[in-house]
Amino acid sequence: PQDLRTMLQRYRDENEKVRKSEAEISRMVHHDFLTGLPNRLIAERDFNDFTSGPGGAASVFFIDLDHFKAVNDTLGHAIGDELLKAITLKLSAAVNRDATLCRVGGDEFLIVSRRRDEETVHAIAERIRVHAGEPVEMGGRVIMPTFSIGIARFPDDGSDFETLARKADIALYNAKAAGRNMFRLYDEGMNSQTLTHIYMSGRLREALTRGEMKVYYQPKIALKTGLVEGAEALLRWFPEGGAPVSPEEFIPMAEITGQIDELGRWVLREACLQCRAWQMDRFPRMKISVNVSAAQFKRGNLVKAVQDALDESGLAPACLELELTESILLHEEFDVRGQIARIREMGVTFSIDDFGKGYSNLGYLGKLDIGTLKIDRHFIAHMMNTERDKALVGAIFAIAKALNLKTVAEGVENEESIKALKAFGCSTGQGFYWSRPVEPAAFEAYAATIRGRVRRA
Ligand code: C2E
Ligand code: CA
Ligand code: CA
Repeated sequence: PQDLRTMLQRYRDENEKVRKSEAEISRMVHHDFLTGLPNRLIAERDFNDFTSGPGGAASVFFIDLDHFKAVNDTLGHAIGDELLKAITLKLSAAVNRDATLCRVGGDEFLIVSRRRDEETVHAIAERIRVHAGEPVEMGGRVIMPTFSIGIARFPDDGSDFETLARKADIALYNAKAAGRNMFRLYDEGMNSQTLTHIYMSGRLREALTRGEMKVYYQPKIALKTGLVEGAEALLRWFPEGGAPVSPEEFIPMAEITGQIDELGRWVLREACLQCRAWQMDRFPRMKISVNVSAAQFKRGNLVKAVQDALDESGLAPACLELELTESILLHEEFDVRGQIARIREMGVTFSIDDFGKGYSNLGYLGKLDIGTLKIDRHFIAHMMNTERDKALVGAIFAIAKALNLKTVAEGVENEESIKALKAFGCSTGQGFYWSRPVEPAAFEAYAATIRGRVRRA
């Protein structure tokens, strides 16, 4: 019996070993070595589980850590790996038990959730942004991770895992192309958009030489007098034989290809020449605002581009305003602040575009010589919806007032909001209520009729 007992024990031990190594092999097959996260196979298994049977539902999230390559390149791969591990913990915290998180590539993660309703899907994406976006200290530096996310849902976008993963990937591509740090739900239009995008970036190179670019102008109205006080220059691209392309699409493209430099110089010059022509003709106090993107600061070319445009047009620097988004000011590289200071010294003014959208960091407002805030059009569009929205916009104007900044409300579409804006002490409005961006001739006609005339000198 003693023998039997030992034999039995040995048999059990063997079995346990086999069971353990089987589990180990299975773990290795199904999990990622660096992060310990499950891989795509598990995601697919869970997807099939979530969607089987009546009432099955699922959504697939494709997540890409923005600018990971830069971390690897500047801080090294060891730090890159550490960052991925830290991100893994945060992503795990951001998803609940109804979802499976896995790593599918270098800096790419995938989540399969049991839920598909839009509200929950948004909530998950938002949790990722907030939780996983917290700053991490790594290699003596603080890294602020941001994510681009593409989402596809069962059964709307497809019935099998492969299809949904591919569509989530297309949505991710769109989120990246739109400027990263955002999420996009897949829609059917994206497929052709992605192809169009690739095709168009080739065409963009020739757009200027082929004369396909135009500058449109949208009036800015002084709310006190109701008169036109200036114009914002907005680029338009009419590719030969194709539909017009929105600047929201081709500006990011031009930033990637480096074309923005030439395009930006061209807009500045066109806009300054046009403004000067208006001044000499019938609108002596006309002012012009031109949008500038981060990429134009990169090679330190902006200072010269502005100087050239002013020299060539003879426009007084005080009549030119450059519109910057807040994200530009966060760039520590390229000496953005230095360049802004040099342009300010010329007498050109600056405004912050889309204020309130994204992360508003009031700290810089006191430090930089920026005179005007342009309140993002989404706030203006929604401010009459609820008292809360209105109060929020009111708070933005209160900040501007406290900091002694001029305010421009963009995207004004109705009379009701003009009343509210005046009550908030907003000085200038811009929007479809007065006029869409139009060609120079139409702008002149409008400026000449609106309450008589543009204020004369
Ligand atoms: P932005 O600077 O915020 O320009 C204002 C946008 O709001 C314009 O879109 C304009 O047409 C639109 N808009 C004006 N009033 C209303 C309104 O009442 N309601 C609504 N719903 N929209 C209104 P657009 O012309 O499509 O330009 C889009 C963006 O492209 C601009 O946003 C700007 O960021 C960029 N962009 C345009 N031209 C240039 C340029 O020359 N250089 C650079 N870097 N960016 C440009
Ligand atoms: Ca603008
Ligand atoms: Ca804007």
